[in-house]
Amino acid sequence: MAEFTMELSDEQKEVRDWLHGFAADVIRPAAAEWDEREETPWPVIQEAAKVGIYSLDFYAQQYFDPTGLGIPMAMEELFWGDAGIALSIVGTGLAAVGVLANGTEEQIGTWIPQMYGDANDVKVAAFCSSEPDAGSDVASMRTRAVYDEAKDEWVLNGTKTWATNGGIANVHVVVAVVDPELGSKGHASFIVPPDTPGLSQGQKFKKHGIRASHTAEVILDNVRVPGSCLLGGKEKLDARLARAREKAKKGGERVKNAAMATFEASRPAVGAMAVGTARAAYEVALEYAQTREQFGRPIIDNQGVAFQLADMRTSIDAARLLVWRASWMAINGKPFTAAEGSMSKLFASETAKKVTAQAIQILGGNGYTREYPVERMHRDSAIYTIFEGTSEIQRLVIARTLAGMPIR
Ligand SMILES: Cc1cc2nc3c(=O)[nH]c(=O)nc-3n(C[C@H](O)[C@H](O)[C@H](O)COP(=O)(O)OP(=O)(O)OC[C@H]3O[C@@H](n4cnc5c(N)ncnc54)[C@H](O)[C@@H]3O)c2cc1C
Repeated sequence: MAEFTMELSDEQKEVRDWLHGFAADVIRPAAAEWDEREETPWPVIQEAAKVGIYSLDFYAQQYFDPTGLGIPMAMEELFWGDAGIALSIVGTGLAAVGVLANGTEEQIGTWIPQMYGDANDVKVAAFCSSEPDAGSDVASMRTRAVYDEAKDEWVLNGTKTWATNGGIANVHVVVAVVDPELGSKGHASFIVPPDTPGLSQGQKFKKHGIRASHTAEVILDNVRVPGSCLLGGKEKLDARLARAREKAKKGGERVKNAAMATFEASRPAVGAMAVGTARAAYEVALEYAQTREQFGRPIIDNQGVAFQLADMRTSIDAARLLVWRASWMAINGKPFTAAEGSMSKLFASETAKKVTAQAIQILGGNGYTREYPVERMHRDSAIYTIFEGTSEIQRLVIARTLAGMPIR
């Protein structure tokens, strides 16, 4: 276990500064343009691929940092640059993690490289779980996967929604129901390879924020994928389903949805994204308050403004500490006995929304225009309290964990 210290190593500082440089020099200058265009910023992703930021290797290196701080530091710096563009850069990681968590070595080796492509021909991937009637309530998912034994193929039918990179991805990872009796325990994940017939993009959403990140419905109409595309393989799935059926029989009740609990280790990364956006808005507000003069003095000379900045900075630092604690716990296998992962995401995402709104207030009329970035940061920040589990779901998970109740 890595000894706990608040001091970053030289190597960590070097990576952080390198990412900060990319965020400042490449991401930030492009932010307003891609927000207006509401399109995937392919040239920026390509730049990230060229320098090695858009690659599995980079994320794997950060993930295996024994202090747990590699991923949160990376997220904070990239999202400090711009949330929409940063999500376009890290969105593929969600699908890659789905394969890393459940796939065989062969599946990992085959599909993850195809998710990223290379610097000359970048690709993206999508993770498709949410459905029109199954958002927070993952267990009510309807997309079905039926095994065609004669052909050793799985047939997928259903509609996915809110998929980041949905429809434009080279590789889609799709979660589907294989046994409807088992709730979320009856779900399995499938790879849908490039150009598979039957998979199409439904509507592309026009969003409030993170508009450089593509979000769309994904329609699955008799999509046939080889048996080898079931993540983890059939034998493992059959054994898992048999165990779940046995448990359900013994318990005599509907199997609880444990999926929400499994997000505990990944939620701090979303918290770190929120810290990045909050810090960006705070920095703009601080500089503005020091330079904008009214009544013959900088507006920061008024406690009404200065105290807001004090609260903003305090909340951001507290959020980062919660994120770092949860990330350290995750890498060191510490049990989340108080749902510390959810806690970090809840506090950081609510902080981002509040701090970006305060930043607009401090910039006055300028804050309300697109001449300054804080209105975009405020729009962007609203996503953090929604995806990867809404704030209400975080509270539900925390409360149920504290009460020793099952999370469902
Ligand atoms: C931009 C964007 C990108 C996304 N990317 C992806 C992606 O790549 N892949 C993917 O699979 N999904 C993705 N999502 C989906 C996201 O995870 C869901 O939107 C989220 O889980 C909430 O589901 P929902 O929108 O259906 O809201 P609902 O579940 O319908 O919730 C609506 C409201 O009811 C509240 N609520 C629901 N249940 C409870 C309860 N038990 N107690 C208290 N309050 C409750 C919620 O907190 C919320 O305020 C994305 C969403 C967005 C907006």
